[in-house]
Amino acid sequence: MAKYWNESIECMAPDDMKALQSERLVKQVRHVYDNVPYYRNLMDEKGVRPEDIRSVDDLHKLPFLSKADLREAYPCGLLAVPQSECVRIQSTSGTTGRRVVAFYTQHDVDLWEDCCARAITAAGGNEDDVCQVAYGYGLFTGGAGLHGGSHKVGCLTLPMSSGNTERQIQFMRDLGSTILCCTPSYAAYLGETLHDMGLTPDDIKLKAGIFGAEPWTEEMRRSIEKSLGIKAYDIFGLTEISGPGVAFECEEQTGMHINEDNFIPEIIDPETGEVLPEGSVGELVFTSITKEAFPLLRYRTRDLCKLTRGKCSCGRTLIKMCKPMGRSDDMMIIRGVNVFPSQIETVLIEQGYSPNYLIEVDRKNNSDTLDISVEMNADQFSDKMKDIQDKEKHLAGAIKTMLGINPKVHLVSPKSITRSEGKAVRVIDRRKLHD
Ligand code: AMP
Ligand code: ZN
Repeated sequence: MAKYWNESIECMAPDDMKALQSERLVKQVRHVYDNVPYYRNLMDEKGVRPEDIRSVDDLHKLPFLSKADLREAYPCGLLAVPQSECVRIQSTSGTTGRRVVAFYTQHDVDLWEDCCARAITAAGGNEDDVCQVAYGYGLFTGGAGLHGGSHKVGCLTLPMSSGNTERQIQFMRDLGSTILCCTPSYAAYLGETLHDMGLTPDDIKLKAGIFGAEPWTEEMRRSIEKSLGIKAYDIFGLTEISGPGVAFECEEQTGMHINEDNFIPEIIDPETGEVLPEGSVGELVFTSITKEAFPLLRYRTRDLCKLTRGKCSCGRTLIKMCKPMGRSDDMMIIRGVNVFPSQIETVLIEQGYSPNYLIEVDRKNNSDTLDISVEMNADQFSDKMKDIQDKEKHLAGAIKTMLGINPKVHLVSPKSITRSEGKAVRVIDRRKLHD
């Protein structure tokens, strides 16, 4: 069975990849300059002409695009082809402000689905597999991307969308699903439901999961792998750049290979915009070099990340990105300390709790408060007040050791925190409401 979807690209010598990227970048900059007045203005303001970009080494000369630009240019201001040439739009899951809409030509859809096919193949998928797509279908890119990739690979595709959790398990059993695609929080919920239905991983045929669209920790990975009896692969993407499949994990599970033939990554200092050397943590920026309809150049993702190039045991030479450490705007500053929800998740799972939690931040009497509600499972549940208080104290201590600040921990009864069927909402920051 094929190990790669496109071996010549996925295992290309880095110098050849750079040459391919350069050729595509030069063409793309010209295409954007000629067809997107919004970006042409940005280039003119910066005094950069298309002919100044002769290879990837010149990438840093181009102006950045940010979410604010996308909102300003909404809906069609960054479109680089006539609308009649577009066949699809998708939209971000953002709930605040204007949503971002991204346009695709048929060529763009094909490339995107191809990237997802690479991800499914890297997770061991082939035409003998039954691929259950439980990402939401609709404007969200998760369902559409993996669905298209699964078709390309030739898997029997189950377009389940998310939700209706018991029915998901029923189909999984009846049709013998071998690959599951959904958000990690939904995968955890499916694992929990399997258990609640009195079933074990031996009752299903799943072997792999392709999970992404939201941050998740290594601890969460191990917990999902155990509850569903699978190997769990990470997948990364964002609507602005196409959708899932911008980067995908291989069997080594040490970061995601970026589909560099389509997307050139950079890491920048989020404050100064300066490009940082390989291995530094900073904001991930993508330049899309093959898209026709919505080709963003130097788009700032706000995801904090690190890039590493090196030999991977899978044989792929594509550069790798680490698990994003969260968006720069997910980071909370609580009593002056930088806190990521993922740090809290790590402690909870290490201490034997489920990944069902809610973080609430507020400001009272000019001081920040951090309250973390954590669900107990049936074994941890106790009707003795003292037992619960002791556990809360212990957990608060472990979180303090990780973060350096004291949280208030509330252990709550089993099943009292709403489960996620898509992207989980784990933080409520009420300070923003007062501002
Ligand atoms: P959207 O375009 O609305 O689907 O959101 C894209 C954003 O989801 C990215 O910019 C990341 O912040 C986040 N995201 C997607 N995939 C992952 C992943 N595998 N790990 C962590 N965050 C992710
Ligand atoms: Zn690899």
